[in-house]
Amino acid sequence: MYHTQSPEEYDVVIMGAGFVGVCQARHLLLNIPNIKIALIDPRPEERTQKDLKLGESMVEVAALFVGKELGLYDYMTENHPPKYGLNFHWAKDPTKTETTDDYYHIWNNRQTLLASFQMNRAKFERDLLKMNKAMGAVFYPGRVVDVDLTPGDAIKTVKVKVEDSYLELRAKHVIDGAGRKFIIGKKTDNLLFGAENLFGVDTGSAWVRVKNVDRTIFHNGYDPNGATCSHYYGTNHWFGHGHWLWMIPTEKDSKEISIGISQHRSAIPDNQINTQEKFYAFLKANHKILYWLVMSGENVDFHYLPRISHTSKTFFSPDNWYVLGDAACIFDPFYSLGTTMIAFAIESVTEIVRAKLAGEPDAERKRAAYNEFNLTYTRINNHLIKEHDKQLGNASIMSWRIYQDYMWWFGVIVPMYAGKWHLDLDFIPRYVKGVQTNLNGYSEHLCQQFSELVAQGKNIGFMDCYRADQLLGNYHPLEHFDNFVENTKLEPRRCNIFACMKYTSFYTAIWYALFLWKGFGFGLLKPRNLYYLFYHLNNAIQCAIGEIIYKRFTKDLPANSQIAKMRQEFTTYRHQPQLQKWIENVEVSVGKEFNRSVVGATTNAPRVVRETKENNSSFHSSLFTFSLLYTIYRIS
Ligand SMILES: Cc1cc2nc3c(=O)[nH]c(=O)nc-3n(C[C@H](O)[C@H](O)[C@H](O)COP(=O)(O)OP(=O)(O)OC[C@H]3O[C@@H](n4cnc5c(N)ncnc54)[C@H](O)[C@@H]3O)c2cc1C
Repeated sequence: MYHTQSPEEYDVVIMGAGFVGVCQARHLLLNIPNIKIALIDPRPEERTQKDLKLGESMVEVAALFVGKELGLYDYMTENHPPKYGLNFHWAKDPTKTETTDDYYHIWNNRQTLLASFQMNRAKFERDLLKMNKAMGAVFYPGRVVDVDLTPGDAIKTVKVKVEDSYLELRAKHVIDGAGRKFIIGKKTDNLLFGAENLFGVDTGSAWVRVKNVDRTIFHNGYDPNGATCSHYYGTNHWFGHGHWLWMIPTEKDSKEISIGISQHRSAIPDNQINTQEKFYAFLKANHKILYWLVMSGENVDFHYLPRISHTSKTFFSPDNWYVLGDAACIFDPFYSLGTTMIAFAIESVTEIVRAKLAGEPDAERKRAAYNEFNLTYTRINNHLIKEHDKQLGNASIMSWRIYQDYMWWFGVIVPMYAGKWHLDLDFIPRYVKGVQTNLNGYSEHLCQQFSELVAQGKNIGFMDCYRADQLLGNYHPLEHFDNFVENTKLEPRRCNIFACMKYTSFYTAIWYALFLWKGFGFGLLKPRNLYYLFYHLNNAIQCAIGEIIYKRFTKDLPANSQIAKMRQEFTTYRHQPQLQKWIENVEVSVGKEFNRSVVGATTNAPRVVRETKENNSSFHSSLFTFSLLYTIYRIS
């Protein structure tokens, strides 16, 4: 059907129309005028109920990307459930897990500054594919069977099977968004599997989707003193030894939820969780509340994925191929960061493709820098779950760990994304160097300290990452330290990332001092601990210097150009206390209804009105004449 003698040539061919494929296509179409894009996917365009995928929960960066960069705030609000943060629950007594009250909680207690969403993936991908086609992308409902990855800028060939025919597409750039098919990863020996490449992470996952659940089993929604937002529409995390479970509402109308486990193999072997019966039995034994919840609805499907985690050596190649999403890396969905890593990657790829198509001299420099940035950022996310197998079940230690992760997420990662610093060629090398030093030093040391305290069975208190009453002053980890949301500093470099890093480093030093004191008492004074305390304070000072330089260079830049332009225009504004005429127009439209031949077009309106006035005055004068004659007649 699609056989062509001379193959079609595209600027970009995207293999896979999952989350990555449809989002990348839309981002390219919105940012590069007249770009020629092909999308290929064997799934039917009209997705079915069976076509359900993972990745239903977004956090701030992914939500900013989908809402702002893809222009989908209205679409998301109308079609997908809202998301109210992440909630975390640990059983007070592992033998008693009947109700939510049997758990200690960290509840997200408010609507956070940046809105986020849960997603029905099948619906999202179906709708975005339609939008992409309407914008000019060509969709091939087929399967990529091979790809010829020629070196450098040479044209690549993608071989596709559509029904019983084969066709070849030629491409300047090829993107692998085909998930775990690893089309490019296998061809280029680019993949890294195994705990030794992944900070020891070795997890599997089982999950079900259930509709028409009775959500009151989880919570009846009445918590007048506990929160100013919904508990159910959060992403709820349930913890136990060597595992955590997610609970995500994916559809409002059908009351559908996704419940799944991330199981660390050292604690839970595959063969004890890999069927629906075993998974339900696990819930019944360890999280009875979730068992009641899944039993209250109708099961839609069950899946088991024995090996979640992998990464890649290269994300963006000098040979114009790119691996994104699950085709590139995924570690553990603990903080729902899959779609966030995708957001960073898509923006990088669009900028590389744009620069290369435009023949810009620094295109290759961008490619190399963005590749490095994305490898580094994803490595942080991998490290975030290091040694979780030992720590997850310990409410005290995990609450401290989550608190610190939140400090860096809201303090640095979100502002960095909002300010487009991940695309800044001067910023990236400094950031990458800092992160690598941190990962090999402080983060590693801290992770060992968490595990040490778990082994000692210590209770060092319960930190709530949403509250502003636990560290210093009114500090809470959701603080950004720059008013980029309030003042829409959303253009590149407008958000003051140096202030964000300065304060986050400072508060991390305070957090670390408190953690050391609670965990180790006078052990706080050990040289290594003091070294890392001063390391954070020193980072804060370095960032303060960076901030001075940043402010000097940006002092004449407005926070937002659109607002600056409007304010400039406004200087000529004068209040005009008048209304535009409208009654005449009403008469015209009434006239239109009754006498189209006379009234004609709106531009005739003044004439019509005049005619009406003239008619009226001649009528009045006739009446006057008649009255006069009548009066004379009566007098005579
Ligand atoms: C257990 C688990 C839970 C997760 N939960 C979350 C979460 O809550 N939030 C989050 O952000 N992330 C989550 N993730 C990560 C999530 O997987 C990614 O965010 C996202 O789904 C990846 O999308 P993708 O487009 O890369 O892959 P997919 O969604 O798998 O898309 C790949 C597409 O390629 C197509 N395809 C396959 N073969 C071919 C071929 N030969 N030719 C052409 N097309 C092909 C497929 O049909 C499919 O449509 C989770 C991951 C796991 C493992």
